[in-house]
Amino acid sequence: MSLISRHKIISGLVGALLIALFGVLMALNWMFEEPGVRKVGSVAQHVEAQSVLAVFAHPDDEQLVTGLLIRAAKDKAIHTAALTATKGEAGTPMPQISRLEDLGQVRKAEALKNTWALGVDYHDVLDFPDSGLKDIPLKTLTDAVRQRMLRHRPDLVVTFWPESGFSDHADHKKMGLAAETVIQELRADPVDGYAGPSHIAYALAPTRMMGRFAGETGKRVVANQPPANVAMPGEAWAKLRGWKIHASQRNYVQHAYGLTAWFVHRLYDKEFYYLIEAKDIPER
Ligand SMILES: [Zn+2]
Repeated sequence: MSLISRHKIISGLVGALLIALFGVLMALNWMFEEPGVRKVGSVAQHVEAQSVLAVFAHPDDEQLVTGLLIRAAKDKAIHTAALTATKGEAGTPMPQISRLEDLGQVRKAEALKNTWALGVDYHDVLDFPDSGLKDIPLKTLTDAVRQRMLRHRPDLVVTFWPESGFSDHADHKKMGLAAETVIQELRADPVDGYAGPSHIAYALAPTRMMGRFAGETGKRVVANQPPANVAMPGEAWAKLRGWKIHASQRNYVQHAYGLTAWFVHRLYDKEFYYLIEAKDIPER
């Protein structure tokens, strides 16, 4: 074989490989896109919120809405607050960085550090039982949410859709329901002129990825969550910083996706929401 023809074969192979690699990257990226969804720079600014409250279940749930929080917090005119119902003590450390009995305290500190890094003004991490919210009376949870809602008087609440909870986690669904319930109660019966937020944004999972690669749970999430109507930048760099801060969960993305967090967040670079007016919250 002449040197020239060997050179041609090698460059042909390299070219084919690059095209195949590009195809794989495009396909992976497609998994984290939602077609036809309105793109906004900031959900909070889009609804002209002056106060935003995130209502979640576990330390690191706030990682799902990094973009929303950091872009809201960057606007000095917007007050930002978060409520996390549990300390995440029932989670699996990835890797283990403390005594197991201290996991809740460690994760609480990680969540507080992460929202501080995002610029969030206030964050309460409560001590409800991780993975046990389904057994806590709704009224107990709504009392806790209501207290924060009256303190921060948000016009935008971001939480989980009660029927899918982003990952079908029962704690997520319960906190979404608790947030909705308080909003409905305040609409019906305002306190000191505050009738609850004007908008609610539900954090949604990317449906293509969830439906294809997350097994039966993923299919259930896709079947039970509403279609996203808003997308915004996810601020991948801040999510990566967040996984460093959540040191006990640092390997979570690698574990869940089988790919490094750096790579996943290059592809999964948006956040998807179902954003509605509070008056349009459905009856459950
Ligand atoms: Zn969670």
